[in-house]
Amino acid sequence: MKILLAVASLIPILPLVPEVLGSTGGEPAYLNAAPMPDFAAAREEAVRFLSDYLRIDTVNPPGNETRGAQYLQSILAREGIPSEIFELVPGRGNLVARIGGSGAKKPLLIMGHIDVVGVEREKWTVDPFGGLVRNGFLYGRGATDDKSHGVAGLETLLLLHRLKIPLDRDVIFMAEAGEESSYQVGIDFMVERHWDKIAAEFALAEGGGMSEQDGAVKQVLVTATEKLSRNMKVVAHGVSAHGSVPRADNPLLRLSAALLKLAAWPAPMRLNEVTRAYFSRLATISPPEEAFLYTHLEDPAVVEKIRSRDPRLDALLRTTIVPTIEQGGFRDNTIPATAEATLMVRPLPDEDVPALMQRMREVIDDPAVELIPAWVQDRRRRPPGSTRRCF
Ligand SMILES: [Zn+2]
Repeated sequence: MKILLAVASLIPILPLVPEVLGSTGGEPAYLNAAPMPDFAAAREEAVRFLSDYLRIDTVNPPGNETRGAQYLQSILAREGIPSEIFELVPGRGNLVARIGGSGAKKPLLIMGHIDVVGVEREKWTVDPFGGLVRNGFLYGRGATDDKSHGVAGLETLLLLHRLKIPLDRDVIFMAEAGEESSYQVGIDFMVERHWDKIAAEFALAEGGGMSEQDGAVKQVLVTATEKLSRNMKVVAHGVSAHGSVPRADNPLLRLSAALLKLAAWPAPMRLNEVTRAYFSRLATISPPEEAFLYTHLEDPAVVEKIRSRDPRLDALLRTTIVPTIEQGGFRDNTIPATAEATLMVRPLPDEDVPALMQRMREVIDDPAVELIPAWVQDRRRRPPGSTRRCF
């Protein structure tokens, strides 16, 4: 894949990517040669599929993605579309199906991962595995990440197949396992062992998004890359002692102080080629007050305003550092010798991570507090001789 595109909500994918699916030059072939899909019916059908798909528990760990893969496979089989399931580990299936094109162009790959993250069940007001549709909303773990994309890809395949759309390129659909932190059974396995099944010129995967306003598509977001995690641990050291006597070197206090200092130090804001283009385009479809902000990002006051009102946009502008876990202490009456926190750190793609860590240590400014790397070292492990780069 020389380009990785990510567009969410692939229905309707056909009008979105005529250049990718269609023929060379002039009108895309499918517009002349086949009827337009009934997108309203396709949407209804996709919602039914998604509701059923959400009822299949594929929380990773352990994943059990094969169950989800078999569900998707059963739909494809009913329509006469062959598919295969590949497992590195029993139960961790990856599904691949293909609609043939003329071969004039290299294939297009549409992806959606089967596994989902865990749930804090007591916080849910509906069954996270109930596939509930209520007041026009579909509820369930995986409804946005990422079973909706899987079903949109599936539905796209069904439409291409049913309408016998002439294609210049094969369209491959993959529902993969292990996206939530166990890539070795999912995309890594497929790339290393079954590349021939998924080799494509373009891939459409999760990460972008579309928004509607007054029934019209307002935004289509395309992901150019992803900020990867470079998680770190903050470890505060002190002297274990009885809790009846306050001590300034209590590691719980040191840890708290360190985290507050880091929170008060947002990493420097920096635009890159992609975010610069994004904000300038966003300005063209935003109300005047917001457009002013997006076109004056060199002004620190503007950046501060964005930071306070839209953390998601702010996160595009800088490396982010977010505490996610704190651990320390084991008895009510005892000061522990250590306390630690996990930071989810999402560096900008060009971030110098060792230099960042050095700066963070300076911000913490406490010799009894360590900052150590804790990202998964083999997350982007590649076989010897591989030349692929990772961020
Ligand atoms: Zn996802």
